[in-house]
Amino acid sequence: MKKTLSAESAVTYLHGVGPTAEKRLAALGIRAIKDLLWHLPFRYDDYRTLHRIASLRVGEVATVTGTIDAIATRRSFRRRLTVTEALVSDDSGTLKVIWFNQPYLANTLRPGDRVMLSGKVTRRQQGIQLASPAYEKRDREETLHVGRLVPIYPTTAGLTERQLRYFISQALRLVQNLEDPMPETLCKSESLLPLTQTLSWIHFPHDEHERDRALERLKFDELLFFQLQRLFAERHTHLRPAPIIPFDKSAVQSFVHSLPFTLTSGQRRVAWDVIQDMTAQTPMYRLLEGEVGSGKTVVAAIAAANVLAAGLSVALMAPTEILARQHFLTLMDLFKHAAFPLALHTHAFHEHAFQKKPQGESDRSLTDPRFTIGTHALLEPSADLGNLGLVIVDEQHRFGVEQRRAFQQRSSEMIPHFLSLTATPIPRTLALAIAGDLRISALRVLPKGRKPIRTQYLAPTDRESAYGHAIREAKSGRQIFIVAPLIEPSDALGVASATALFAEVTSMFAGLRVGLLHGKLPSKTKDAALLAFARHELDVLVATPVVEVGIDIPNASVMIIEGAERFGLAQLHQLRGRVGRGASASTCFLLAGTETPLVKRRLHAVATTQDGFALAELDLSLRGPGDLVGTTQSGFLDFHFATLGDHGLMERARNAAEKLLTDDPTLHAFPLLKKQLRTFPAHSE
Ligand code: ADP
Ligand code: MG
Repeated sequence: MKKTLSAESAVTYLHGVGPTAEKRLAALGIRAIKDLLWHLPFRYDDYRTLHRIASLRVGEVATVTGTIDAIATRRSFRRRLTVTEALVSDDSGTLKVIWFNQPYLANTLRPGDRVMLSGKVTRRQQGIQLASPAYEKRDREETLHVGRLVPIYPTTAGLTERQLRYFISQALRLVQNLEDPMPETLCKSESLLPLTQTLSWIHFPHDEHERDRALERLKFDELLFFQLQRLFAERHTHLRPAPIIPFDKSAVQSFVHSLPFTLTSGQRRVAWDVIQDMTAQTPMYRLLEGEVGSGKTVVAAIAAANVLAAGLSVALMAPTEILARQHFLTLMDLFKHAAFPLALHTHAFHEHAFQKKPQGESDRSLTDPRFTIGTHALLEPSADLGNLGLVIVDEQHRFGVEQRRAFQQRSSEMIPHFLSLTATPIPRTLALAIAGDLRISALRVLPKGRKPIRTQYLAPTDRESAYGHAIREAKSGRQIFIVAPLIEPSDALGVASATALFAEVTSMFAGLRVGLLHGKLPSKTKDAALLAFARHELDVLVATPVVEVGIDIPNASVMIIEGAERFGLAQLHQLRGRVGRGASASTCFLLAGTETPLVKRRLHAVATTQDGFALAELDLSLRGPGDLVGTTQSGFLDFHFATLGDHGLMERARNAAEKLLTDDPTLHAFPLLKKQLRTFPAHSE
């Protein structure tokens, strides 16, 4: 084996990475050493407390150091498993240790070996034992698997946590040329860790302090990149004007009058803010935040009506095909009296709709205003969006900063006004730290007549009552969402669990129409399922969290969330917002697979709080010390590391980014930073 490795070297240079491990690592996207180094833990097991055998107590998680007196494996035919039993002693006593289905252990660990064991102390007939503890021989200076904060990684079948830890610890030791994109002076002035140390501490921290310092650097990088990206985008903005769009009172009034409901006062106020912004030549950059169901789409539509009346086009970008399609249908309905075309443009769909054929259609030209709704496909050069006056992005990553830049680059003259819609509540302090020119409007009240969503957190034993209620509702003509959780971080799409649940639900709801929706289905199939549900051709929809953002089915009255403990609280709140959109009472059932005190507290909070903002904050404060690094839980505008509470750090990153660009407007001196900026962040769609 080579003594040193480069960040680009293949993982196969590491000890223990044979063809099988290579394949499994590749399944996680890990090919080069650097991929391995950036495969970060999503939590840590705290195995630091060392105990003497004589003082162990049932129920505690403990680490002991001792010598193996005896070890043997036997087969338990009755339970079809192998049992490895050992006796381990230290100077205070002897302890029985037991492992299941790891017969090779009797060869790995031999009598006389010094070992360290970490695990839970359980009761047995006479006395206590350690059941299936993590183990490690004491032949090295520092342990990886026991007696410390032990990193737990996302992994895949056939690749163990032990293997990952072993590979990563080698990589950390052997890698030589890890270049740090962060300017050294900045690192110093912000007292941040250098990159190499950051990685080593995030993987194998000796204590919380090291972990937090590493995390701070990772957050700072993320926020700095975000800020640099924003500043680059704004630089284009300042050079070019946006079209001045006058307030067309009669057009806006007649659109508002055509709506099937009266606007809330919040909707009026925010629509007015947006329309005012667009009367200036400075491009609008506004964020509209509002709880799920607060009616953001209508506000965006009013702004669009004003722009279209001025003879300019509008584009609306949604994060998924499903949502784009839904917006298209909604807007077709809202604009059914309008004289301009609406178009849907996604990878799967290209549709046009003229609600009312304008007279002399042949006179229409390429510059005529149109309203195009779509996904990322809108950014393709071939997408013909007309002369854009306004771009609206719904639920995009990080305020749509990236999308904003992309739209700005599409045209060479004027740049469109920009409105970003989000259900993530942004604290004022954070908004200020993000950008001086980012304006925020908030819809704080839901439209009248909404019944609050009754949320019930049920014990696993009460699962049937939730399904009983759902079946009754479905039989009386209402519709049901059933959401299946993610299985493990490596199976981010949750396909297996949704599919299994689908089979179960189909037989439970015999006689009713059940559909399945998950991220891995072809988009045509996904859209067909959603469309069928929207048209009430399906009574029940079993889905992964793809239904999380934006989908609007007023007739849906029950949502069952399986494995609710696996979701972030803000995410649960978003999910339940899918029901309760019609006039009658709705229920959301939270079913948990496991019931720890923490799970109970979290789910109880969701059941008793209707305020998404409060839940997002609570989620942060309730996080165990173990789970930290970005996972499916984080959910703050898709920042991986930063959280809603990081405004101090956001402000530091903003100041640093501004200073960097003032001193060196093209980042000429920092090619690495510049290069990373171009590839950051990766689209997650
Ligand atoms: P979100 O803010 O979550 O995107 P939507 O714009 O999808 O919310 O609106 C949710 C639902 O509320 C839609 O069915 C919409 O037609 C309805 N709605 C919006 N505004 C009002 C209002 N002022 N009064 C009654 N219903 C409204
Ligand atoms: Mg929406």
